Amino acid sequence: MTSIFSPGGIAAGGVVGDVPVWAQLVDLFVAICFVLALKGLSGPKTARNGNMLGAAGALIAVVTLFFAHPGMKNLPLILGAMAIGIVVGYPAARRVQMTAMPQLVALFNGVGGGAAALVSVIEFLDAGMTESKGVLAATVFTVIVGSVSFTGSILTFLKLQEAITTRPILIPGGQYLTSLVGAAALVFAVWLVVTPAIWILVVLLVLSALLGLLLVMPVGGADVPIIISLLNAFTGLSVAASGYVLGNVLLIVAGTLVGASGTLLTKEMAKAMGRPLTNTMFGAFKAQTASAGTGGGEDRPVKSAGPEDVAIMLGYANKVIIVPGYGLAVAQAQHQIRELVDLLNERGIEVDYAIHPVAGRMPGHMNVLLAEANVPYEQLKEMDEINPEFSSTDVVMVVGANDVVNPAAKSDPSAPIYGMPILDVADAEQVVFLKRSMRPGFAGIENEILFDPKTTMLFGDAKESLTKVVTAVKAM
Ligand code: NDP
Repeated sequence: MTSIFSPGGIAAGGVVGDVPVWAQLVDLFVAICFVLALKGLSGPKTARNGNMLGAAGALIAVVTLFFAHPGMKNLPLILGAMAIGIVVGYPAARRVQMTAMPQLVALFNGVGGGAAALVSVIEFLDAGMTESKGVLAATVFTVIVGSVSFTGSILTFLKLQEAITTRPILIPGGQYLTSLVGAAALVFAVWLVVTPAIWILVVLLVLSALLGLLLVMPVGGADVPIIISLLNAFTGLSVAASGYVLGNVLLIVAGTLVGASGTLLTKEMAKAMGRPLTNTMFGAFKAQTASAGTGGGEDRPVKSAGPEDVAIMLGYANKVIIVPGYGLAVAQAQHQIRELVDLLNERGIEVDYAIHPVAGRMPGHMNVLLAEANVPYEQLKEMDEINPEFSSTDVVMVVGANDVVNPAAKSDPSAPIYGMPILDVADAEQVVFLKRSMRPGFAGIENEILFDPKTTMLFGDAKESLTKVVTAVKAM
């Protein structure tokens, strides 16, 4: 039986042959779950339910597969692989620190792309020579895009983990090498479709894996959010293509949803960073001198103060804006910040949070963090909305943020973040920075605002500093 939900005709010898009608209906139900899950994930109030719905849909889809195909090949191997996945993945996801979540997501994303590529390789080894050209083309697509996503995501993971430098890794002639490897992959891809052979597949795998590394290496720290969403879209597309190879429509639906949402997110992220995608991937080659004069600001004088001084500045202000950043997540100081804002509100002070689209280490990081402390969503203001407010603000308190307020993005064309819209904190009357040292942010570049006469540094872990400021405000 062949229908839109079991394109058995395009199956290449995988588990799908004739899919019973009941299983097709379950697949349809699951596809609807996935669409509704995405809808839920688009808002902070419905995100948790959206996530649960998507996970439930995936579980139903997997269980259905076993009942719909009782004669499935290699059952013990499949169950064994699933058991290993659960034993490794479940505790990793449960135990992961909130700050390490972006790395974990990058890793899971890479594993998804790699799995899609492997599935296609196995299908090819099983029935490759007899495949239709359409299935071969899908196989080749999955191998290239899935492998790029795999190695690219692993490298992104290492950058996020700060296991390797977060700055662009540049090799001489890198741009040309990338183009050459990309072109070679394309040639071998066409060759494989025309004359299928295992050695061509192996060369294609190696070239694609190399391409993933070459594409991510020159991406500077600040641009990592764009590359994460791009690789996410790649994984979705490779999963969709592997669905075509296997003749599994649900994989096609799920992969296309991930691919489409990842593409939209990439577009949004690139817009937030104020640069086209090509600039993210190749811009570093043009700005090789960007690193000059960065990172060594410790010798220059800065103005620092204690928690009591900061409490006085805040307590006697009319209007305060809080700029949260990655350091807030590291310090896990979201509850302290909420307590402080509540105290200021009680004193009749107007307080808002300024949320930069790439603050933290994953899209929506600050929103999730502050939602954890039940910060009212209305207090969170997006960059475009809050920027005009800084000029009428008495005190801006920057808590563990750095790159997202760095004016080099506007003034220094050689800076890797040049062109990225920032929160204009320098427009306010006074700026207070809560951070532990003069170290730069993720992009690895010095921040001139730290040396501005209107800036006061409150050095220390944000949680400890905020706890002291709260105590001092209470005592006022
Ligand atoms: P940054 O990484 O620029 O700065 C974070 C600051 O927090 C550091 O300067 C650090 O200074 C401080 N900090 C760290 N731990 C603590 C602590 N316990 N207490 C107080 N301060 C602390 O963060 P931003 O949020 O400003 O910018 C995000 C950066 O990450 C951008 O470059 C963005 O492009 C990139 N990125 C964003 C992603 C996303 O999707 N949002 C994904 C990947 C990268 P010190 O060490 O001195 O304390």
